[in-house]
Amino acid sequence: MDKKLIEELKERLEKEREIVKGELQAIAKKDPNLKDDWDSKFPKLNGEFGGAALETGADEVEAYGNRLPVEYALEIKLRDINIALDKIAKGEYGKCENCRKEIDEKRLRIYPEARLCMDCQEK
Ligand SMILES: [Zn+2]
Repeated sequence: MDKKLIEELKERLEKEREIVKGELQAIAKKDPNLKDDWDSKFPKLNGEFGGAALETGADEVEAYGNRLPVEYALEIKLRDINIALDKIAKGEYGKCENCRKEIDEKRLRIYPEARLCMDCQEK
C-alpha cells in the first residue's frame, strides 16, 4: 500500500480520534457516573472470529444496550480508530481482518478505520 496514503489516513485517524474523545468527554460531563476510560471499556475482540470471542462480545454488547446509543457508537468508532492506528504502527494496515486481502483504497479513503473489506463486511 502507498506510504503517502497511509500517512494521510494516519493523520485523519489521529484528528478523528481527538474529535471522538472530545465528544465522549462531553457526554461524560452530563453523566458523572461514567468514567473516563474509553480505551478499556469496550470489549476487545482482538479481531478473533472464533465462536467464543463472538459470544463474549455479544454478552458485553448486550450490556451496552442500556447505555446511550450515541456513546456506544462513539466508543466503537474510537476503538476502531485505535485498532487502525495500531495496525499502521505495526505495518499491517489496510488488510481485511477476515480474509486478509488488501482493503480497497477507495473504501479506506472514505472509512479509514475499516477492519473488513467490502465483501466480508456485506456477509
Ligand atoms: Zn475480507
